[in-house]
Amino acid sequence: MTAEKSLWTKTTCAYCGVGCGVEAKPNKLGLLDIRGDQDHPANYGRLCSKGLALGETVVHDGRLLTPEINGAPSNWEDALTLVADKFSDTIKQYGPDSVAFYVSGQLLTEDYYAANKLMKGFIGSGNIDTNSRLCMSSSVAGHKRAFGSDTVPICYQDLEKTDMVVITGSNLAWCHPVLFQRLKAAKALRPELFIVVIDPRKTATCEIADCHLAIQPGSDVALFNGLLAYLAENKTIDRDYIDQYTQGFEASLASAIDECQDRQAFLKRLGIEESQLELFYKHFSQTEKVLTIYSQGVNQSSQGTDKVNSILNCFLATGRIGKEGTGPFSVTGQPNAMGGREVGGLANTLAAHMEFGNAQDHQRISEFWQTEQLASKPGLKAVELFDAIDDGTIKAVWIMATNPVVSLPDSDKIKAALKKCPLVVVSDCIKETATSTFADVLLPAQGWSEKSGTITNSERRISRQRRILPTPGLGKPDWWIISEVAKKMGFAKAFDYDHEGQVFDEYVKMTALGNRDGKLRALNLIGLANLGTDAYNHLTPQQWPVPEYQKEVVNQRMFADNIFFTENKKARLIPISQKQPLSRCTADYPFVLNNGRIRDQWHTMSRTGLSSRLSAYQPEPFVSINPIDAVKQQLEQGQLVTISSASGSVLVRLAVSDDIEPGQLFMPIHWSQTTASKAAICALIKANVDPNSGQPEFKFTPVKLVKW
Ligand code: SF4
Repeated sequence: MTAEKSLWTKTTCAYCGVGCGVEAKPNKLGLLDIRGDQDHPANYGRLCSKGLALGETVVHDGRLLTPEINGAPSNWEDALTLVADKFSDTIKQYGPDSVAFYVSGQLLTEDYYAANKLMKGFIGSGNIDTNSRLCMSSSVAGHKRAFGSDTVPICYQDLEKTDMVVITGSNLAWCHPVLFQRLKAAKALRPELFIVVIDPRKTATCEIADCHLAIQPGSDVALFNGLLAYLAENKTIDRDYIDQYTQGFEASLASAIDECQDRQAFLKRLGIEESQLELFYKHFSQTEKVLTIYSQGVNQSSQGTDKVNSILNCFLATGRIGKEGTGPFSVTGQPNAMGGREVGGLANTLAAHMEFGNAQDHQRISEFWQTEQLASKPGLKAVELFDAIDDGTIKAVWIMATNPVVSLPDSDKIKAALKKCPLVVVSDCIKETATSTFADVLLPAQGWSEKSGTITNSERRISRQRRILPTPGLGKPDWWIISEVAKKMGFAKAFDYDHEGQVFDEYVKMTALGNRDGKLRALNLIGLANLGTDAYNHLTPQQWPVPEYQKEVVNQRMFADNIFFTENKKARLIPISQKQPLSRCTADYPFVLNNGRIRDQWHTMSRTGLSSRLSAYQPEPFVSINPIDAVKQQLEQGQLVTISSASGSVLVRLAVSDDIEPGQLFMPIHWSQTTASKAAICALIKANVDPNSGQPEFKFTPVKLVKW
């Protein structure tokens, strides 16, 4: 290795689920020089604007430097003792379900594992949920219904191998920019690669689209049911595949046919021209290699799980799964939403893809962790969890690396709940957030480039985040903070870790429990067991399953053998009918408000907001409105308007744009009520949730707007 090369440390980006490999090197300004990692299979050297600006965000402004108790600086010993004692006392008095953890897709897998182990394994409650509930849980539920496991079948290389891409409910260009760059490059090389974008808005992703279907918000199930009926009618389903490897086809097809029986009503529901629909259906029907990329526009819905399964139905009916260049591709929002799912960070799963309600799984985990207190039932999902804080059922909550006051629906209710909760613990690297205001105890965590561990990206690839810079103040790794509290609660033996690599090794061994041949669960990492600290520190990106280390296949697809993780090993098609969103537009609230990310910001801007370069792109929040609606409402570009829903109001500047359809509005998600903007979108959103996944309906909020 040359001296120049050795100065660069390989790590992984802090932001989206693409999971790009980054190389970083400290510079004279005390910041980091950043470049893309040419060797990483996610990005092969590419980075987006956010990734490239990572080095500018490692400043110490606003960092939480020391533990605090009731707003006063404290020390680790006192703060950890207080948290452990208060949690223990609450559990003793009110039982294990009186406490909860609310965690984050920003945590590393080792942190997630330790938090889940403490809550489910030793406190004995399922009450640990994650902000990934807001992001991916409908895809998790859809995967489990169809495949019997939460498994993304494809690999990124399929972007270059496919002949048709359907991007639905995703502004890929801004939200997963490096995947978009890969797709754009593939299209430049092969202009015949046919790209369809399905989105009520004309987004930046439409730049590469051959066809844009601006369907009515929430009509995705109807669209994909119509596709299934079309495939059957045109005899492009794979009858042999359906008969041998699936179940539920006939009932699913009957629902699909029923959906589009009344052609005029069907087209009206979709709100698009018949010729456009035909173009999409015909191409899908006649193209063998099709990739469907979907994200929050599908997941964040009161029918999100059904939307996912309506997509999966079309792939299973055509046998286009487990093969090169084809399959359904759920792109993950957060850097480690996938890793969190793997270790049981969702309230309704155990660990390592094992399940509540399965006696063998309960026994395996209890023996492995040597615990008699393993939670016996699922815990509360995010919205329910904060409802339980609000009604006093939960009396102590520990919030890790997330800002629910800004990101959960009905933010006024979240604030009220936290205000009355007897104990709120917040561990974060940032001192002042909308949530930390309510904390009784603040615990300083390490940030990106200070902490060390693993994350899993959208193609199931595990990569290392590495420690490059020293931590300011007294910040500690999250797994260490959790373990120290666990020790003080009396669980010292189970949390005796000296290094994050030991936590990883334990998790890896867990994936082998009853799964030696990898047939029980897709999640099999046994090839990474007993790596030792040195090999863990040098771990190269690994895509699961990993039955043997050093024998890595660079691009793997799941279900190539047509064996699924259901009881009879067959995939399930699910009969589905289109439902209306739970809140409907009325004369009082005539507009549908949609929301999403902008190009250069991430979540609540606590990191990207530190880069002046990134902030310059779109310095303040806005609401987009169609010119026809602006004229009708006698509103002009740049004017301040109040947007109100049944849940609250925000103040924001108007942006008149043809990109949005009449009757619809769009706002970015990033700003909060604590900034000067008064534009926290979650103040407007009602907590309507999908009954299968518990994911809130962020993409359909009836609102009105008036001149300020
Ligand atoms: Fe980071 Fe995502 Fe951009 Fe890659 S695409 S550099 S992971 S934000």
